[in-house]
Amino acid sequence: MYSFMTVVQLKNELRQRNASVTGKKADLIERLEAYDRNFNFGADPGPSEDPRYECPPVSCFKDINADSPIPPLDRHEIQAYFEKFNAQNKGKDMYESRCLLTARYASVGASTYFQGQCKAQMKKVTYIVNVKVSKEGNIEQANCECAAGSGIEAHCKHVSVLLCAVEDMCRTKTIMVHQVTTQKLMTFKRPHKVFYRSPIQAQNLPMSRPRKQAVNFNPLKREDMMENYQDYVHNLAIRRAV
Ligand SMILES: [Zn+2]
Repeated sequence: MYSFMTVVQLKNELRQRNASVTGKKADLIERLEAYDRNFNFGADPGPSEDPRYECPPVSCFKDINADSPIPPLDRHEIQAYFEKFNAQNKGKDMYESRCLLTARYASVGASTYFQGQCKAQMKKVTYIVNVKVSKEGNIEQANCECAAGSGIEAHCKHVSVLLCAVEDMCRTKTIMVHQVTTQKLMTFKRPHKVFYRSPIQAQNLPMSRPRKQAVNFNPLKREDMMENYQDYVHNLAIRRAV
């Protein structure tokens, strides 16, 4: 549009912008266009497009246990939530390998806010995950600290881990959280085969040499046993007499 203006008009436009008026007509046009391009530079871009997750204050949160009144979240709802974004519900394995460190909830109005700490895979970081679930068990909002989880419709695997935990809590009244190394059974401690039969009795154990005489497997000698027995009878008699 500036190419149809005269040099005088262009210079007036530039003066209004406190800009330099030197140079040829092409320079003036280029300078005006540059000013127009940068018109909004540094100004407030207005309300953000990305809505923020509203999280209740920390004091509202409680630990989840079997008596916690949590909404009925089922796996179909979780599946539907991820399908809405063409995303896969990838958190089940992570949940089962105990990537969730903590899980808490807060009931505010008709909604329940869940907050969990989830370990990242392959990294030594944890992310705070937030999920808002309605009274009927519909996932309303989700947010995660990781790079993919901003806004209110996060669908990263950490959100999935927390949702799996809540679903597990609804179904089985238990929740699997992280264990320290010593709580886990080491693979070398786990028996390869489980022995279900009754133990072999000592006298039936196969021996390399044939038994010469009958072995008494009681560590007490027969005389000791008799002595003990006589003491026992004697004491019993005294007690009865008293
Ligand atoms: Zn995440």
